This record gives sequence, C-alpha cells and structure tokens, in this order.
Amino acid sequence: MNNLAVVGAQWGDEGKGKVVDLLAPRFSAVVRFQGGPNAGHTVVFGGRTHALHHIPSGIFHDGVRCLVGAGALVDPERLIEELDGLGEAGIDPVGRLLLSAKAHVILPLHRALDGAMEARLGTSAIGTTRRGIGPAYAAKAQRWGVRLGDLADGARVAAELDRALAAGVADWCRALGAEVPEPERVAEQVAVWWERLEPLVGNVTRELHETLEAGRPVLFEGAQGALLDVDHGTYPFVTSSSTVAGGIPASLGIAPRAVEAVLGIVKAYATRVGAGPFPTEDTGSLGDALREAGREFGTTTGRPRRCGWFDAVAARYAVRINGLDALAVTKFDVLSGIDPLRIAVGYALDGDPVGDFSDVGDAWDRLEPIWEELPGWSEPLTAVRRLEDLPAGARRYLDRVAELAGVPVALVSVGPDREQTIVDPRGLLSAWIAGR
Ligand code: GDP
Repeated sequence: MNNLAVVGAQWGDEGKGKVVDLLAPRFSAVVRFQGGPNAGHTVVFGGRTHALHHIPSGIFHDGVRCLVGAGALVDPERLIEELDGLGEAGIDPVGRLLLSAKAHVILPLHRALDGAMEARLGTSAIGTTRRGIGPAYAAKAQRWGVRLGDLADGARVAAELDRALAAGVADWCRALGAEVPEPERVAEQVAVWWERLEPLVGNVTRELHETLEAGRPVLFEGAQGALLDVDHGTYPFVTSSSTVAGGIPASLGIAPRAVEAVLGIVKAYATRVGAGPFPTEDTGSLGDALREAGREFGTTTGRPRRCGWFDAVAARYAVRINGLDALAVTKFDVLSGIDPLRIAVGYALDGDPVGDFSDVGDAWDRLEPIWEELPGWSEPLTAVRRLEDLPAGARRYLDRVAELAGVPVALVSVGPDREQTIVDPRGLLSAWIAGR
C-alpha cells in the first residue's frame, strides 16, 4: 500500500497536524480535501510552534508536495497571512504548495454572514468559528460561489457577485445587518489577492491523478473530526463538509480505492469546541484540570474547549463511518496524575442500553454514559518513546481503548513536539505504507 488518510475521529483538535507532520517525510504529497481556515493544525519542532489553517501539515518537509483540493475552501486574506508566517519561518511555498483552481473562496461577505447569523442565534448558536465556512459552502451549493481560478478575472467575479446580490443575497445581508459588498471594491481586492496567489493556483486534480498513477505515496489530511461530519456528525452542531474518509475521493476527484488505509486520530480523552452534544463532558474540576493540563484552547479562535472522558461508543462509530484501520492516540501525557480514569463504554437512554452512537437520534439530553473506571498513573510520559517503557496503568489504558474501539493503536503521542512520540510501536504503519 502507498496511500494513507489521517482523519480526526472525535470532534476535531485531536492533534492531526502533529501526526501528519511526523508521517509526511514518508510521502510524496500531503493533500487537504475539505474545510478551510476553521482548521487550526499545530506543528511543534525545534522549539517553535507553527499554526496552519489552510496549508497541509507536510509543508515543513523539503520535497513533500502540499496540495489543497477542490473540496477545500480558501480565504485569500487569511491564506496570505499564513503565507507570510511561513515566510518568517524561512519557507517559500512556491514549488511546494499547489491550491486547486476549483477550491471555493471565502469572501469577506461570507464571514460577515456567518458572524451575523451566529450573533442572531444568541444562546442557540451553533458555535461556528465565524470564519465564513458555512456561507461559503452554501454559496457553492447554491451556485453563486467564487473559485480560486476565478480570481484571475476580477471583473468577472464582480459581475457574478452583482448577479448574486440581485438574486437576493443583498436582501439577506441587509436583513442580517451585514454590509452589502460593492462589486467594484471586491474586484479591486481580487486583483490584489491574485497577484500574490497566482503562482500557487493550478490543476491539483491532474497532478494528483499523475502522482497516484505513478505509484507515488500520498497522505490525505483531514480537518475537524468524524463527529462534526455534515452527514454523520451531531447535526446541526457540525461543520459544513464531509470530514470522513469517504469524503476524500468525492472532494478530490479520485477513485475510492486510492485511499488504501485510514488512521483515526483520537485524544486519550475528549474535547469539543462550540455547542452540541458531548456525552462524556466533565463540567466540574476534572474538566478544568484536563483543559489546563492539555492547554485546551482553540488554535484558530483561542476559545476554551469543553473537556471530558474518552468515549468508546463514539470511537467505535468513528471506526465504522471512516473504515478506520487503526488509531493514533494523542495527548496521552495529559492523563498523568489523574486517578482513577474513566471511559464511557456504553450509553443508557432512559435506563435502556443504546447499541450504537447512531441510535441516539436527538435524545442527547436523556443520555447517560455507562462508565468503566481504570487505575491512573502518576509518572510523566513525555520522555517515553517505547510502549514497554510506559507505566503498567498507561499500557492497560491503551489496550482497553484499542479493545473497545475494535482497532489497534498504531501511534502514541506523549507531547506536542515531533520527538515526543511512540512511533509505530507495532510496525503497522510500516507494514501498510511502502513509503518513498
Ligand atoms: P489538529 O487540528 O487536530 O491538528 O489539532 P490542534 O493543533 O488544534 O490541537 C492539538 C494541540 O495539542 C496542539 O496545540 C498540539 O501542539 C498539541 N498536541 C498534539 N499532540 C500532543 C500531545 O501528545 N501532548 C500534548 N500535551 N499536546 C499535544
């Protein structure tokens, strides 16, 4: 096998960026397939922290091509900031990064609509990042979207926008108190964006086909997580795209069988940003302790994340909806010193057991987790590099996670740095990926 997908198997922020950065040197290309700057992938090495929003987490490796596919979104203003940040880190993305001309653009208008709708909803807001993701995907589906390749012709973008405004988008803006964009101003902005982005925009579909046909290994990088998938997540508290592995071929225009193995990233506990169901949430002092120890504040928004225990029911569901072959367990170091530990091994609804995450329907408020307690450990894990060197309690915890999820653990992360990893302890990844 050559090609691996790395996807979030919880509610996002699982540490995908770290895992993708770590595995990237084995691949010819790293490809983002969905989402936009609502993603905040953090990569730490050499004493520096790098936050990526659009750009695949392979960008720090020379010779790894980074592609952003048609199903992703790009906010030109934020992408240019991100490119500037890379420049400060001494990385020139030209020649390393290619963005699909078919990827849709987030306009300031989409951000304004996202913010205005969330503000209107008040306490019943979704808790979006207000980065314009929902409105930009909606515009794409309603066929008034702007694609990256369209930016080559600012006058055409302005004319299309004018048409959309006349078709009702202007009324929508006014009703929400969002500024109605002036097409001529947008055309000017587009020209500025294009000057900077033109060398980075091209035919990702063809490049990807050629890479796959040549048998060069590809890593598909997910954003957000399985439980935020627009179809299979906790709707409506979800993101606006397909985050699961099945979204990869559709978003990129490749054969489903090109995705040969799928690695699901889970934290050793659980977090969620924004509103919505979170069966294992701990709103007490343990949740606070996890937030502090795990520094659970959003990369993109700085918002405190809701924290709780590992949810094996959700993990089993994530395994099924993605076809996960294995898990990577991250932030394992955070659990040191917490004793006892808890895992939700099942749910009860009005006292009756619930077989599967998908059986809950909308009855989240009446759901009770069924807990299993496991002994904790006090030793720090950040210097451990081999499974054998983990305290007995930590090994037992990992074994139980794998057993409950129904798939093996193929990687364990014990700190934010690249080095702080128990890499491929069972040789599974090496067996799956021929690498380059
Ligand atoms: P992503 O969006 O899935 O890439 O996740 P984020 O980057 O939003 O959040 C993960 C955060 O946890 C980042 O700040 C990482 O540097 C950090 N991180 C990743 N793995 C570990 C780990 O094993 N231990 C600790 N303590 N932090 C980690």
